[in-house]
Amino acid sequence: MTRASILLALAAVAAACRGPVELAPERPIAVVAPGAAVAAPPVGPSSSATTTLPTSYQGAAATPTGVVVPVLGTSADGWLVGTPCGRTVSVRNVRAVTGTVVLDAGHGGEETGAIGPLGHKESALNTAVVAHARRALQAAGVSAVLTRTDDYRIAIVSRAAIVGAVKPKAVVSIHHNASFSEMRDTPGTEIFHQAVGASAAESRRLSGLLYEEVTAALARYDVTGWGATAWAGVKARRNAAGDDFYGMLRRTQGTPAALVEVGFVSHEAEERLYARPAVQQAVGEAVARGIVRFLTTADPGRGFVDPPDQADDNRPSGGTENCQDPPLG
Ligand SMILES: [Zn+2]
Repeated sequence: MTRASILLALAAVAAACRGPVELAPERPIAVVAPGAAVAAPPVGPSSSATTTLPTSYQGAAATPTGVVVPVLGTSADGWLVGTPCGRTVSVRNVRAVTGTVVLDAGHGGEETGAIGPLGHKESALNTAVVAHARRALQAAGVSAVLTRTDDYRIAIVSRAAIVGAVKPKAVVSIHHNASFSEMRDTPGTEIFHQAVGASAAESRRLSGLLYEEVTAALARYDVTGWGATAWAGVKARRNAAGDDFYGMLRRTQGTPAALVEVGFVSHEAEERLYARPAVQQAVGEAVARGIVRFLTTADPGRGFVDPPDQADDNRPSGGTENCQDPPLG
């Protein structure tokens, strides 16, 4: 048995053990790893299936191809839904998806996010961590809806529209970072929280708990020097207007949200680490623990820093220009 086929077999066993809660059809997707394709846990909408929806249904749904969409209304031959690229289309059949939490795998499709020196794509690493987080949450009895269920582009507005449709208790967006400026003995994890809106305080607490769990999980691995910036830790970032800089935090204000930059895929030693399925699982389970603690305790979290204003050095990404929707069925 190759390593990949062993992992596939293990994934199949795990899938088979999940019990009757899991009604969604799932497709395994592969982590993009040069030289060795490795099976990631299946992703897809997490929810109970509903065969008939009332025409008044407002919420999120999965199309026959497993793409999660917000339901906007009814049409002559089905449902009006918002697509990943922000269009409104009619789909004949959908099923409701509900969840306590929304998990958001950053980037996707041709928007790969950061690419490590060995060629690993951030979007694929994000997908793998989210899949493990979702599985660990399910094991803890917490349902999660994914904004992105496969490797396709999805605009920030569409991710936020799914959050608006699901109305979860927390939203966690997973990313891997690029452009470190120094080396440290401890992980350079950065987590951004909302600075504005009714959920800002809880967004900060959620981020602190995620930081505590993710850095503890990473610290078990032996990396000779972690990439970091001068302001690693838990923080807010504002735009020129004083609002939250990141669309995923700004457009979800009112719902506690956190944007996790696990670590630097642009640092080769860390890239090797994040490409390992066992590490992806450890990080995903740490994310799940942080979320469960957020939902069930009043723990404050830790790692808070207060950096000076940061210049807008981000390449634009997450828009709808030239965006091609995946098949919706
Ligand atoms: Zn990213």
